[in-house]
Amino acid sequence: MSLLTDLLNLDLSDCTGKIIAEYIWVGGTGMDVRSKARTLPGPVDDPSKLPNWNFDGSSTGQATGDDSEVILRPQAIFRDPFRKGNNILVKSTTSFRHLKKNLVICDCYSPTGEPIPSNKRYNAERIFSHPDVKAEEPWYGIEQEYTLLQKDTNWPIGWPLGGYPGPQGPYYCAAGADKSYGRDIVDAHYKACLYAGISIGGINAEVMPGQWEFQVGPSVGISAGDQLWAARYILERITEIAGVVVSFDPKPIPGEWNGAGAHVNFSTKSMRSEGGYELIKKAIKKLEARHMEHIAAYGEGNERRLTGRHETADINTFTWGVANRGASVRVGRDTEKEGKGYFEDRRPSSNMDPYVVTSMIAETTVLCNSNLSNGSK
Ligand code: ADP
Ligand code: MN
Ligand code: MN
Ligand code: MN
Repeated sequence: MSLLTDLLNLDLSDCTGKIIAEYIWVGGTGMDVRSKARTLPGPVDDPSKLPNWNFDGSSTGQATGDDSEVILRPQAIFRDPFRKGNNILVKSTTSFRHLKKNLVICDCYSPTGEPIPSNKRYNAERIFSHPDVKAEEPWYGIEQEYTLLQKDTNWPIGWPLGGYPGPQGPYYCAAGADKSYGRDIVDAHYKACLYAGISIGGINAEVMPGQWEFQVGPSVGISAGDQLWAARYILERITEIAGVVVSFDPKPIPGEWNGAGAHVNFSTKSMRSEGGYELIKKAIKKLEARHMEHIAAYGEGNERRLTGRHETADINTFTWGVANRGASVRVGRDTEKEGKGYFEDRRPSSNMDPYVVTSMIAETTVLCNSNLSNGSK
């Protein structure tokens, strides 16, 4: 083991009660995840007990140089798989081994306390704290697809430089050196997310070689967005170690190659209960009535992906169906059979903001007036 590795693995708990907290926030492009670390005097058990902090917003496209300060407010905490222990320890009489948390998901405010435009969490939190939404305990399962690229060429890993692999078919959920590229990165991310306390449900290799998916959920309300952002941050850190670039572009390679989405599976308490399928159908009707508004919020460049081909629906047309992977919204066979369950919104792209998308689905299906007589079928 190198001296560097030794130092990185130092167990600080022998010599100091101080902890290292990594404050993480979404930057000015809406897709860049930024973070910086600070030393704190001791453990906390809740993000609200962590101090606010600030950063230079003129360097992240979030403020001007003459008024550059942006305030970070801690909102959610996760265990840090990189620094591991000796960080934000939650004290407990029995054990605090499993309660170390020091990844801190923050949102951004102006010095006067207003959420800045890139703070999409603020409005999401408003929707999720509405009593009608809270009462419905909205569950989300997000399928995050992404592509791994070679660092110097931005070409998918495993692909011949300047060339293409054989056509799609053998790669989805495949094993073998000629079909599966990047599994070590994907598996490291999977385990790191479990360590962090993220409810990651699984991973799979995608249809396009070099493209993968992980699922987060079911998570309740705002925690789905917090967890997905934490999982994206961890993926950036792991690909950094591997010297590989992660891309969330919805259509990284034009042509006969699948794009990357972020399907959002959704249910409310009523949909999960007896008679829920009727409510699911009502909710789908509401989504149909606001199709273009949702599309506008579902990710940049999604028009390159939602072509009506490669397991997508055309961007301009709302469709739904049981077991239909070419529809905007899919209902599973089990949900139809049991008369309750959940549905899948297949429209969001891989680079969508989960705060925006999850809260908008709750707003449209739970809060919007159900009086949508036009366009009903
Ligand atoms: P697909 O067949 O579309 O690839 P996945 O298995 O990748 O589906 O993802 C399904 C997601 O749906 C998972 O994240 C899972 O946690 C989530 N899910 C399961 N049940 C529910 C539910 N009742 N409400 C919301 N999400 C759910
Ligand atoms: Mn999936
Ligand atoms: Mn997929
Ligand atoms: Mn899916």
